[in-house]
Amino acid sequence: MKTISVLGSTGSIGTQTLEVVRAMKEEIQIYALTANTQLSLLEKQIREFKPKLAVLMDENAAKELRARVRDLPVQVLAGMEGMIAAAVYESVDMVVTAVSGSIGLRPTLAALEVGKNIALANKETLVAAGELVTNLAVQKGCSIIPVDSEHSAIFQCLEANSAKAGAGSRGSGFKIILTASGGPFLGWKKEQLASVTPAMALKHPNWTMGAKITIDSATMMNKGLEVIEAHFLFQVDYDQIEVLIHPQSIVHSMVEFCDGSIIAQLGMPDMRLPIQYALSYPERWNVCFNKLSLAGKTLNFEQPDWEAFPALKLAYQCGKRGGTLPAVMNAANEICVHAFLHSRIKYHEIFEITERACRDHKPVKADNLQTVLEADAWAREYAQRIISGKK
Ligand code: MG
Repeated sequence: MKTISVLGSTGSIGTQTLEVVRAMKEEIQIYALTANTQLSLLEKQIREFKPKLAVLMDENAAKELRARVRDLPVQVLAGMEGMIAAAVYESVDMVVTAVSGSIGLRPTLAALEVGKNIALANKETLVAAGELVTNLAVQKGCSIIPVDSEHSAIFQCLEANSAKAGAGSRGSGFKIILTASGGPFLGWKKEQLASVTPAMALKHPNWTMGAKITIDSATMMNKGLEVIEAHFLFQVDYDQIEVLIHPQSIVHSMVEFCDGSIIAQLGMPDMRLPIQYALSYPERWNVCFNKLSLAGKTLNFEQPDWEAFPALKLAYQCGKRGGTLPAVMNAANEICVHAFLHSRIKYHEIFEITERACRDHKPVKADNLQTVLEADAWAREYAQRIISGKK
């Protein structure tokens, strides 16, 4: 029996993680659930999954929750300290990091510090502090199992090939082909994209996801973040990572080996599969939520439009320059996506402001948490200032 903590249990990945847990009750139990603000849903989850610890980021909401679950043997904590407590508890085998944004960085590092394995759904953590996180994982002997569907696919392809080429080893003998749906604006030209509204960008053709990642998919920044995520997870150079548009989201990614052979992982676009694999690894559980039937399906692949979706190129550039630059790109983008969702900036300004922050940042080595957090804070403030029109 595995014991897990789910950070971000009321979000899209969090609720789907609990669906997997519900189906595999004899294999997995919950130690802690943490959420940002969704008090009522968290209460419902506590009543069903009976964690020992529950955390809400907001102090007042935590107080209210404490009153509501008085009848249960659950401790309720608040804020970052609570989230870290959920991540480091002794009997936890694996921490599912399903929060959105770089808020996941501190609890992830805290979990690795005490030797926990991570099911990583929070790609921003690896983008902001990839070196720090992966070095610590190696040093402490922890596994980071990707939940992101593309990275789960690559992980499975590498596993299928041989243990020798598995994640964590310096991968000189293979190339990663990261597939991208292209989002709701696939085929649109730069001029057409000027009129995009939040409602339009929130309609993803294949995947149902949280708001932040859905906007990132529309700008293709999501794929950019995933390129950086792949670089750190699989220890491959950026030149060995290719992005290929695949509108059907059936091939979740591929690995091309040195002899030209390509191994791909296929499945329905349903996050419960990569979540389940991260939880069951190295085994597979006999539960299938959404079976893929290939008969009658057509699979297309094409090159991305670099001009219409400049965020992808920016991510490659920031990744290659490295240091604190990816953290800055990620943080500025987070602020811009939030502002766009609240109609404070236009679609194209998400990229423009993010790029400006990257251009004005003087990157330094990102080898400690303080430096990463400072770069992250600098970028947030920089983007906020432009958005508020003061710059
Ligand atoms: Mg993905």
